[in-house]
Amino acid sequence: MAWDFETEPEFEEKLEWMRGFVRDEIIPLETLADVWRAPGGREKFATVTQPLKDEVRRRGLWAAHLPPDMGGLGFGQVKLGLMHEILGQCGYAPSIFGNNAPDSGNAELLAVGGTPEQRETWMQPLLEGRLRSCFSMTEPGAGADPTLLSTSAMRDGDEWVINGHKWFSSNASVSDFLIVMARTGDADTSAYKAYSMIIVPTRTPGVNIVRDVPTMGEPDHRTGEPGGHAEIVYDNVRVPFGNVVGGADGIGQGFALAQKRLGPGRIHHAMRWLGQSRRAFDMLCERALTRYTHGSILAEKQMVQDWIAESYAEMQAARLLTLQAAWKMDKLHEAGKHYSDARVEIGVIKFWGAKVLYNVIDRAIQIHGSLGYTTDLPLESMYRAARAARIYDGPDEVHKVTVARQILKGYRPSDPPLEHIPTRRAAAEQKFADVLDAVSING
Ligand SMILES: Cc1cc2nc3c(=O)[nH]c(=O)nc-3n(C[C@H](O)[C@H](O)[C@H](O)COP(=O)(O)OP(=O)(O)OC[C@H]3O[C@@H](n4cnc5c(N)ncnc54)[C@H](O)[C@@H]3O)c2cc1C
Repeated sequence: MAWDFETEPEFEEKLEWMRGFVRDEIIPLETLADVWRAPGGREKFATVTQPLKDEVRRRGLWAAHLPPDMGGLGFGQVKLGLMHEILGQCGYAPSIFGNNAPDSGNAELLAVGGTPEQRETWMQPLLEGRLRSCFSMTEPGAGADPTLLSTSAMRDGDEWVINGHKWFSSNASVSDFLIVMARTGDADTSAYKAYSMIIVPTRTPGVNIVRDVPTMGEPDHRTGEPGGHAEIVYDNVRVPFGNVVGGADGIGQGFALAQKRLGPGRIHHAMRWLGQSRRAFDMLCERALTRYTHGSILAEKQMVQDWIAESYAEMQAARLLTLQAAWKMDKLHEAGKHYSDARVEIGVIKFWGAKVLYNVIDRAIQIHGSLGYTTDLPLESMYRAARAARIYDGPDEVHKVTVARQILKGYRPSDPPLEHIPTRRAAAEQKFADVLDAVSING
């Protein structure tokens, strides 16, 4: 089968423009984070970022993640992945391109699973950047195993009544609506058909945002700032029955929809991690050529050369694995098939990409010594943020389980092993008996 990840020169020109734009216009905003967090800072930030967003729109690169029939640009996963690699360099870049999590994933979810009315009411404003959203699934008592989620939605006439306790609902405290995963099935319903996603406007009575949970990534985060991870108590929250994603057909489809939402999102995550890894790698190489110690620059130490070679190889492998997964998803999409046929590839990049990110930043910190540990460089915050990549969207172990299970389907047990040499020798002696008899007679 022929396969390649080639993109046309016109698209490469767009990527080249994006590289310069992110480097020159967006990355400089990072160093002024304290200004943006001060009173009135968000308004100031908007006065700087709005013209940047307008420029992105003018270039036709705004919210590029959806197919054209749903308001996007039809780039497909390979091209989107290449774009996310550039955007991943800086935390501010995705929102300036209308492509930030969780809004982009939620828009994709509504695109594939929402009713026409839901797409008009919720997805279209999301794409235009007029609304912000949250995906509220994880609970203090259940995360990696979603069949244990206990938040319930009971039908009462024309309404759902939602009760439960969630946390790590990213961006909930700045959102306009939440997509809540809740149990709608009764005790007899199979767990995989028991959950639905329900759209809940954030200001609905009974939605109690307890706090944004401070994290290793942002220990000084204040509730209500963008990028927080909210703890929420849903207390008799009433929303119209039609708010279940997909309408009546969406009841019990929560897990199936979650898979559709998370597949492309993992490509985007993995490519954004590569953007971060590359930034750390560039710092690593620059320091190797600059710092003199113990008789030479660090670049001449073999252990440092080992880090550079290992980091390069790991990043290159992650990049090829991710682009190949993206390419496969594009082919499946073209053939009208479900992304689940790429679940091995998607699972691999989730845990492999997160590990590479972590490894490369770790080496970049190490080569900078005490400087690497300070807040004078972005490495320490990149490192703290990178740690979460091994947990969100499913921890490493869960993806490894998926990958291993799928791979094992191609095997069967055998005792003795298929490669058992005495058994193979006996079979070969039987297979070639005529020749062997002739040899022994001649001998
Ligand atoms: C920065 C960040 C942002 C997030 N954003 C969101 C969001 O917007 N919305 C949302 O709903 N959730 C969000 N989450 C939650 C995230 O999806 C969960 O943390 C994740 O699914 C794991 O669930 P858990 O934390 O409850 O871990 P648990 O389910 O308690 O698992 C704990 C550990 O057990 C191990 N483990 C689990 N299963 C297995 C297994 N089968 N085999 C071996 N080991 C296993 C793993 O090491 C795992 O890390 C976010 C998390 C983080 C860190």
